[in-house]
Amino acid sequence: MSACISRHGEFGVHDIDADYVCKLCHALDEDALIVELNRLRADVKALRARVGRIAEAHCKDVDDHGGTYGVCDECGWPYPCPTYVWATTERDSLSTWDPADDRTVQ
Ligand SMILES: [Zn+2]
Ligand SMILES: [Zn+2]
Repeated sequence: MSACISRHGEFGVHDIDADYVCKLCHALDEDALIVELNRLRADVKALRARVGRIAEAHCKDVDDHGGTYGVCDECGWPYPCPTYVWATTERDSLSTWDPADDRTVQ
């Protein structure tokens, strides 16, 4: 980022706000924005992998002959168990979540 030129025509140091915009000259700090973007991408990747491992663990029980009791191999609830449904359902991250929404009707 180049030097800050405030409204008064003076050069100085940018005063960057939480949205990476200088409060004095309204320039966007693109370098900081890219660093933040890459950090967020890495976080999303790590969280998706973690949720994926949870979904993998909560799979349907299957014995050596291909038979099943129709329950979750991990927790014993009827398959798909609430944990599997939770881990595999896309949600609006701003909405609230009620476990009752995921209960499967038996
Ligand atoms: Zn500035
Ligand atoms: Zn389960």
